Amino acid sequence: SNVFFRPIEKINAIIESYPKGIAGFARYCEIMDTDPDIKDKPDAAVLERAKGAIVFKDVSFSYEPGRPILNGIDLAIRPGETVAFVGPSGAGKTTICSLLPRFYEVDGGSITVDGHDIRDLTVESLRRNIGIVQQDVFLFSGTIRENIAYGNLQATDEQVWDAARRASLDELIRSLPDGMDTVIGERGVKLSGGQKQRMSIARMFLKNPPILILDEATSALDTETEAAIQAALAELSVGRTTLVIAHRLSTVRNADRILVVNSSGIAEEGRHQELVAAGGIYSRLHVAQMSQA
Ligand code: ATP
Repeated sequence: SNVFFRPIEKINAIIESYPKGIAGFARYCEIMDTDPDIKDKPDAAVLERAKGAIVFKDVSFSYEPGRPILNGIDLAIRPGETVAFVGPSGAGKTTICSLLPRFYEVDGGSITVDGHDIRDLTVESLRRNIGIVQQDVFLFSGTIRENIAYGNLQATDEQVWDAARRASLDELIRSLPDGMDTVIGERGVKLSGGQKQRMSIARMFLKNPPILILDEATSALDTETEAAIQAALAELSVGRTTLVIAHRLSTVRNADRILVVNSSGIAEEGRHQELVAAGGIYSRLHVAQMSQA
């Protein structure tokens, strides 16, 4: 069995379910705020607010010995750039993004943030610089205010409302009898997938990290919600280095760079029009998605 997920099994009692991939582990880290497997070096440095330059150099990784998932990944992302990872299910898009916050350690090669090898940094300071947005966000039984302010308990009422507004949650919150003090979760109001994702976005406006990982929902949302979320994400990613695990053609189109991941690694990269014109994997994915839509 997978050593990695064993600690999660222990806390299974307090979480309903845990999905695979970045959502599951991010949620685990959010709850525990620590990671038993990944320890700081004795002389680990604190990463102050990063500019957000990310470099993967010859990165290899496997979850299990003898079953390599990533091999020789080279990737340089500029501060503020938005890159979208696309490709078939299981190609390793989530895995690439999971290595950056050190949810897993690379087997070979290195990853740097602003030139610092992430293994030389404290995990806490590295993760303070990285925000993860996902539909399957961890929300606890508490008020909306507490859930948005999570991780930033000094946040003022004005800041919490501002974050809610930017995530297009303010109307919903105002429509609830207890407003910001509405209890959500098991004992309170249940939120839809789209609303949960917006809670995750609101949290990130407050956290204000220089680096973002967006794990896009695969499930369909209604057009209006979809548009509101896309607009909020577009605003959120301004001025931040953004890695998107992309499932939406609209997000991909607006990315500064698209990285097509398949079993052999990063197979193609470029902007939407370039890749469509190139007639490779991306153009075929594009045609397939267009015919589905
Ligand atoms: P999707 O679009 O379906 O999310 P993906 O491109 O993000 O796919 P990954 O989730 O990174 O792909 O998975 C890459 C490979 O690693 C897959 O073969 C997957 O089964 C395997 N894998 C992912 N997580 C684990 C894990 N915790 N333990 C073992 N293998 C894993």
